[in-house]
Order: sequence, then C-alpha cells, then structure tokens
Amino acid sequence: MAQQVPEYYGENVFGLKVMRKFLSERAFRSIKQTIQEGGTIDPTIADEVADAMKTWALEKGATHFCHWFQPLTGTTAEKHDAFIVPDGEGGAVMKFSGKELIQGEPDASSFPSGGLRATFEARGYTGWDPTSPAFIKEGSNSATLCIPTFFIGWNGEALDKKTPLLRSMKALSKQVGRLAKVLGIDTTGKQAYATLGGEQEYFLIDRDYYFSRIDLIQTGRTLFGKEPAKHQQMADHYFGAIKTRVMAFMEDLDREMWRLGAPAKTRHNEVAPSQYEIAPIFESLNLAVDHNMLQMEVMQRVAEKHDLACLLHEKPFLGINGSGKHNNWSVVGPDGKNWLSPGDNPNENMKFLLTLAAVIKAVDTWAGLLRMSVASAGNDHRLGSHEAPPAIISIFLGDQLNDIIEQIEKGQMKDATKAGTLEIGVDQLPILPRDATDRNRTSPFAFTGAKFEFRAVGSNMSLGGPNIVLNTIIADSISEMCDELEKADKNNIKEAVQKLLQKIIKKHKRVIYNGDNYTEAWVKEAAKRGLPNLKNTPEALEVLAQPEVTKLFGRHGVLTAAEVKSRYEIYKETYASIIKYESDLAADMVKTMILPAALDYQVSLAETIKATESVIKTPKQNASRKILAGVSAQIEAVYKNLEKLEKVNATGVSLKMKGAMDDLRTEVDKLEALVPSDMWPLPSYAEMLFVL
Ligand code: ADP
Ligand code: MG
Repeated sequence: MAQQVPEYYGENVFGLKVMRKFLSERAFRSIKQTIQEGGTIDPTIADEVADAMKTWALEKGATHFCHWFQPLTGTTAEKHDAFIVPDGEGGAVMKFSGKELIQGEPDASSFPSGGLRATFEARGYTGWDPTSPAFIKEGSNSATLCIPTFFIGWNGEALDKKTPLLRSMKALSKQVGRLAKVLGIDTTGKQAYATLGGEQEYFLIDRDYYFSRIDLIQTGRTLFGKEPAKHQQMADHYFGAIKTRVMAFMEDLDREMWRLGAPAKTRHNEVAPSQYEIAPIFESLNLAVDHNMLQMEVMQRVAEKHDLACLLHEKPFLGINGSGKHNNWSVVGPDGKNWLSPGDNPNENMKFLLTLAAVIKAVDTWAGLLRMSVASAGNDHRLGSHEAPPAIISIFLGDQLNDIIEQIEKGQMKDATKAGTLEIGVDQLPILPRDATDRNRTSPFAFTGAKFEFRAVGSNMSLGGPNIVLNTIIADSISEMCDELEKADKNNIKEAVQKLLQKIIKKHKRVIYNGDNYTEAWVKEAAKRGLPNLKNTPEALEVLAQPEVTKLFGRHGVLTAAEVKSRYEIYKETYASIIKYESDLAADMVKTMILPAALDYQVSLAETIKATESVIKTPKQNASRKILAGVSAQIEAVYKNLEKLEKVNATGVSLKMKGAMDDLRTEVDKLEALVPSDMWPLPSYAEMLFVL
C-alpha cells in the first residue's frame, strides 16, 4: 500500500508537520516512510513516537488516549485510558509507551465476530495504522488522543472493516504496479494507490422534535408520519439559500473538520426539505474512509451544540428523498498521475482506457457483489425507489466516452487519419476532452470526469465495505488483463492492448447504460441483458455465500474463507435484528401512543355529540357523527393491522414483518389526518421538516 503524504493543516492532527517538530531526524524519517509505504512502525522508535504524541496531546489538553477502531457493527468504537500512572512515591506522572501506542487489547467479547471466535477466547487486538494519523477529539471539559487502529482476533483474523480495506488497497496497488510495468512505466520506489472522496447527505431537524420521536431516537427513521401538503414538489430547497441556523452549523462543522485535517470542499442544500450535503477534498482511500467515519461523529456532536439533531439514516422520512453517500473513486498510478483522467496524448490514453476497461470488466463480472456491499436495512428503503439508483448495477459513461468505446469495439477509429490497422487505432484515439460527461444522476455507477462515482452507497454506511469490494474486483480485473498483456510481444504492446480492450468491451458492454435508470423500461432491458437485480438485503447478502466470492477475496489476500463467512453471518443477523426492533417499536408506538390518542379523540367526539344533541334536539349532528364514524373506522383499520403485525412479528420472517409494518403505517398515517394535531402524540412531518 502506498499513499500521498498529506501535509496536514489540521491543528488537531498529529501529522507530518507536527512530527517533524517533535521527533528526532531518525524517527521522523522512519515514520514518514512507514506512512508512505504502509506497514507497521519500526519498534525501536515506537517509544519516541508515543512520547512525542503524548507531549503534543497534553499541550492540547488531553488527559486520555484511545484506540479508535471500526468493528463490524459499521460504526466506530473506542476505549479510553488515562495517561496518568502512579509514580510510586505518592504522586503521578503522565505516561504513554510505544507498546500502548502500537497495540491495545479491548475486551472484544461483545463485538460481532460471526463465529470467528468463541466468547471464552474473545481476545481482540487493536493495532495502530500509521497511515492514518492520530488526532485529538475535544470534549467539553478535556480532550482525548485518538489512535486509528485495525482490530483483529488473536490469530490475526480481521474483526473490523479497516484490516480488509488495507489488504484490498495493497492488492490494488500490486496489480496497478504490474500494469504499469507492462506499459513501460518506471515503477521503482513508487506505488499506486486509490483515492476517495465521499459526498455525505444528511438531514437536520430541531432537537426538541427529535426527542419527541422515539422512532427517530431508536431506529434513526420515522416509522409513521403523514406526508405534508408541501414537501419537495417545488424543488425549491435544492441549492437554495441556507437558513441562518443551518449555516451556523455548517460553519462549525467545516471548522472542526478542518482542524481534524479533513476539510470539506462543498456544502449545500439537497433536494428534500431539511436535507443537506457535505463533500470533502478527496485523499488517499484509507484516510478518506477514516475521515468519513470521523465526520459522521463530528456532525452529530456539532448538531447537538446547535440544538439540532443530525439524521444520517438512509430514509428518515417517507415520501421525500433519502440520503446517500456518493463514493468517488479513482486510482493514482506509480507515475503519480490519476489513471482515470483522460490524457492528452496516446500513451496517457492507453493507461486511461485500460483502467476504464478494468472497471467495466470488474463491475459487470461482480455486479452482485458490488450490490451486496451497499445492502442494509436502511438502504433498502432507498435503492430502486425512484429517487436513488436502482438495485441494478450499471455503468454510465456519457455520450462521448460511449462513442469511443463503440469505436474500440468495432476495432476502427472514426476519425483515424491513417484508417485501418488496430495499432493506429490506439495512436489515433481522439484527444479526450475532460469532464465531457453530462452527469446522468440516475446511474448507480457513473464516470464523472476523472473518477467513478458509486452512488448506491447509503448515508449511514461505512465507506469501508464498498471500497473493499471495489478495490478487490478492480485488482482482479487488472490481474487478468496483465496475465494476457505480459504474454504479448513487448514491441507490439499497443496492438495487444487494442485487442484486449476490444475483447473486454465486447464481453462486458452489457453493463453500460446511459439512459434513465429510474424507468420500468430499464428494469426490463436489464433483465434481458442478464444483469442481476437483487431487490433487497436478504437477496443481496446471499452473494457472500457464493464460492467464487470467497475465492476472489482469497486470491487477493483480502479476506479468508472464515472471514467471508463471518461477515455473511453478521450482516444477516444485523438485518434481522433491525427489522425486528423496528417492528416491535412500531407495534409499541401504536399501542402506547397512537391508539390511546385516537381513542381519546373518539371519546371526546362521542361526548360532544351527546352533549350537543342534549341541547339542540333537531336536526341531528350529522357532521360530528360522520367525523366520529370516520375516526372509529380508521381506529379499527389500525387495530386490524396491528394484530397482523404482532402475529407476523412472532414468526421472525423479516420480509413479512417489513410488509406488515408498511401496511400498519399506511393506516396510521390516514388516522393522523383525522385526529386534531394537538392531540396527536408525535411531531408532524411538516413541523420536523420545515420548522428550523
Ligand atoms: P459532483 O458534481 O459530484 O459534486 P465534484 O467534482 O464536486 O463532483 O466532486 C465530488 C467529490 O468527488 C468530492 O468529494 C471530490 O473531492 C471527489 N473527487 C474529485 N476528484 C476525485 C478523484 N480523482 N478521486 C477521488 N475523489 C475525487
Ligand atoms: Mg456527486
């Protein structure tokens, strides 16, 4: 693995700038090399680095340190230890050793392991990943030194998302290096690495409303809620002027992320009311993943400061857009250049076209696996619901690139001056205008100028999962391509490249689709092309059980068979638990909040009618009676569906539970339209989405 060495501007980051100040020349050189090339820190400098970190952290007000890691729950975890050590003479000193920096041993028994280890041998180890710098997390009274770590079992099995991510980056780097050699690029001392920029969507609502919605608190989404009359019909929120309170939040968030060395590039209003986006400056993939995890934490903390709640769930509100996380991926070759950036000469273009072909081949061959990598209970509400990319994975290239692909497939260039031979074809490839794509927003996997943008990722997910898959499948493509090119005549490499490109495009062009991905016609067309359409998480997770998937991860040293199996088990279990607690809570809310409120209203209507009719004898109170009849009928409908949900809940069949939850919701939302708003026990959509 390799990466750029960023010069951190963040004052809360123990980056190279700070290290230069605090470390001896020898230690600095050694750690810098480790950061650039990956691997573990030289043990002979560990104590010095740890001591420097501590000195710096104490200056920043830190009292504790923690190993910050990413277990398979998809969130981050940390266990804090104080620097303080008794000095044996009644006093205390602040200490932090190399050993404490390099390795930790949190009690791992409660983290999901998917059978990787039994509870009695639940030891798990965290180890510093020096490619991701330590940082300071500021609390309200003091600060904590956080050390990004991987998390593994006693036998080295990965219990987290970072370990396989680092392995997948290494695999990619290795294969791109092979390709570079084939192309005659000098690779001595230099390595390829992937880059990533994750655009993050989120909602902000007033904190008081948040605390009045037990469903938001417990599940991250509203289980009930009638659609407000006005929502996103006018599209007047998108890129609109930012409200003062939200702006204050954004400024604070930007400042925090800057201090943490992960500055944002853009901020704006999104399509749905109260929905926003933040996009960082892209960086080495491993860092970008860590920084996105950190950003999600900071967003919630900063929101709290502004009496707001930041909702990261993929679908907090029904009827309006949900939130995604666009995964902008590219690869920098050993020549230090972005290989997905169309070049301005034939040699650059050859690199570009080979990388493009590798991606096309990878996405078509492993479409199901890529779909699996974004499967979650939350994301199921989004994918394929006409606001987000469908569950069918296809690639958007744009007209210009598509035209070139077609020419390559035919083996002849339209505007080749010396028409004819294949070799000339590559030489005469038109100079590609940068950023020529027209940004089809409906495609799940779009080429956007100098990177691919995977848009099916959910807002609440770790970017780790999808990028483990992306790195691995693209490494696999490149590996197969190299197998072929390495056999070719060195003096005639262009011809071999041309042949290979043609072959790949012929075989995998079915995955390219430049039309509107939201239409029914595409669903039919995709089926005809044989593209998988894995509609929900249970279907998608089955991909992990395919033997060829285990072989793929094994081939590149990313996950062992046991590690793949453990993930399959954990993800299935996670999905089932989410559906279970959501449907339990839905039933609870109906019984303890919604029905009692509706019944109160029913009584008050009945009493009103009785009281009114005792005074006004004729005519009968028709309006009141109709209202009462309507409310009563709706209470019956809700109750019927509640009984159905409770019956289904007992079966434990997730998809049935989900269906019953949806049916119950439909009836509850109709009831909400009948009950006076001051009697309804939950804040309405209109309040949550518009009062800010
Ligand atoms: P969009 O039209 O999707 O908003 P932008 O050019 O603003 O496109 O980029 C969106 C995201 O893509 C940003 O987070 C940016 O840092 C990231 N990005 C841009 N170039 C690259 C690259 N070469 N590799 C990875 N991410 C990139
Ligand atoms: Mg984007």
